Amino acid sequence: MRLTCPHCGERPHDEFAYRGDATLRRPDPAAPADPEAEHSFVYLRDNPVAGHREHWLHAFGCRTLLVVTRDPATHAIRSIELAAP
Ligand SMILES: [Zn+2]
Repeated sequence: MRLTCPHCGERPHDEFAYRGDATLRRPDPAAPADPEAEHSFVYLRDNPVAGHREHWLHAFGCRTLLVVTRDPATHAIRSIELAAP
């Protein structure tokens, strides 16, 4: 699998580090504690067949955090964008 960094161009995936699901949202720390929401955030993950949004860090390059939309079955990349444009 090769990923195209917006800054560095196409690179092998071993220059990147997977940083997890890009669709997760941490529960609001200012809100009252909700053990179920915290458990879900830490432990529960979907296993989608179609496109999945993931955070990838260009660890051995420009160190930019990217959002990669990828098909987990075929590894086909649908889009790559900056996590914080
Ligand atoms: Zn890069």
